[in-house]
Amino acid sequence: MHDNNNEPRSFWQHDYGVYVPNTRLTEDLKVDVAVIGGGFTGLNTAWQFKRDNPGARVLVLEAALIGFGASGRNAGFSTKLFGLEPELVVLRWGRQRMIEAHRYLEKAVAYTREVIDSHGIDCDYRHAGLLRVSYAPRQLARLGKTLELYESLGLAADMRWCSAQQLREGHDSPRLLGGIHETETGYLDPCKQVRGLKMLAASVGVRIHEATPVLDIARGDTAIVLRTPHARVTADKLVIATNAYARQIPGTRTLRQRQFPLWTYQVVTEPLGDALWQSIGWKGREAFGDNRQMLHYFRPTVDGRIVMGGGDVRAYTGSAMVEQPSPATWAHCEAHLKWIYPQLRDVRIAYRWGGPVSVNADMVPEISFIDDERLIYAGGCFGHGVALSHLNGRTIADLLQGRRSELTDFWIVNRKAIPMPGATLSCWAGRTARHALRVWDWWEERGVKG
Ligand SMILES: Cc1cc2nc3c(=O)[nH]c(=O)nc-3n(C[C@H](O)[C@H](O)[C@H](O)COP(=O)(O)OP(=O)(O)OC[C@H]3O[C@@H](n4cnc5c(N)ncnc54)[C@H](O)[C@@H]3O)c2cc1C
Repeated sequence: MHDNNNEPRSFWQHDYGVYVPNTRLTEDLKVDVAVIGGGFTGLNTAWQFKRDNPGARVLVLEAALIGFGASGRNAGFSTKLFGLEPELVVLRWGRQRMIEAHRYLEKAVAYTREVIDSHGIDCDYRHAGLLRVSYAPRQLARLGKTLELYESLGLAADMRWCSAQQLREGHDSPRLLGGIHETETGYLDPCKQVRGLKMLAASVGVRIHEATPVLDIARGDTAIVLRTPHARVTADKLVIATNAYARQIPGTRTLRQRQFPLWTYQVVTEPLGDALWQSIGWKGREAFGDNRQMLHYFRPTVDGRIVMGGGDVRAYTGSAMVEQPSPATWAHCEAHLKWIYPQLRDVRIAYRWGGPVSVNADMVPEISFIDDERLIYAGGCFGHGVALSHLNGRTIADLLQGRRSELTDFWIVNRKAIPMPGATLSCWAGRTARHALRVWDWWEERGVKG
């Protein structure tokens, strides 16, 4: 199931340098809480629960390495984006729920930053803000409506409109027609962050085993039994924090219908050097996203590179654990970066990678009890799970303790989820949607992009 899973998959994992994983689990154990998945969700949950309950036995099992999944591969944007788009959230869930979701995400960004600052996690966090830009007049008109929506909901306190001229004062790119500047957003090195969380969890006594895939889950009346290759774990409560991989977890049919993995891709340049940075401007070093349907996002790194991602996604029916390279998407990302900044035409791409995001039928995340209150599942974060999964860990820790809090009252907790169809149909639907969205982008950008 996990061939060569010690190899770096992302630039961040590669750049991390030598990483010594914990040993695999080889002895049977009995614990109070077991967590499957060593990403942001699993580690935050385990850490927070153990802090609240120092006497509890808390275990994290990770199939590969800590940060093997999306948490070690993402672009590191700690943003307030929720679901796919605010317009869709309002359409499907209404204005009040959109407001509540945005408030939860505001808390999530602040909480993530506070965890980093107060525990000194060395993850290169930069609270640099986010610019959401358009390249074509039709996109710009849509983005203007998005800002109006945020304003009408009272959610635009940290957002302001930037004209093309204002953007060009900070960015020497002929492509940017205008956009929204949002200040309460940051970015980080995701691999350093997730491994920093591992250290925090271990420091309070969470037991963590890597290279230990859970092969089966059996629920009895008195305990839940997990089978791994070399040992069994008996747990009172279980958290399934496997994100885009949840479909493969055997033992519960309900989980297989919860979400579907879509692969998304990124590239990173070599370090640009001072002269090139000066030529492109980008003085504020903000993170960028556009408002295409197949959005692109890009950001600087601490050593002067640019990470560029998005532009396309891939749906497939195989295991999300197996890499799904996409040279065409990598080439697209590189071309797009150089289209925005023609000054970078000779810059080399140093690393290319991809990873799965968890997508569900009703397009917003969920945290749910599965069948009974002993088993909690979190998923459906799309490409916006960095801050969310940090705060979700705190929320799940409350749920594990049967504690009602402002967080557990958030409407994604135990919401009624629409089941996903089978893998083949989900894949077909994903490809059809992708095609339609690409046509939409082509239509809006025709005459702008060669
Ligand atoms: C390319 C990419 C870019 C992204 N960019 C951003 C971004 O900039 N901002 C943002 O907010 N979000 C972004 N996201 C989404 C974000 O990374 C995720 O929402 C978030 O990391 C999810 O964390 P997690 O802990 O829930 O899941 P993961 O980090 O995926 O962790 C799940 C873990 O479960 C393990 N696992 C799976 N099956 C088993 C098993 N049977 N037994 C034991 N362990 C198992 C996996 O190995 C994995 O390590 C991006 C995602 C990708 C893929």
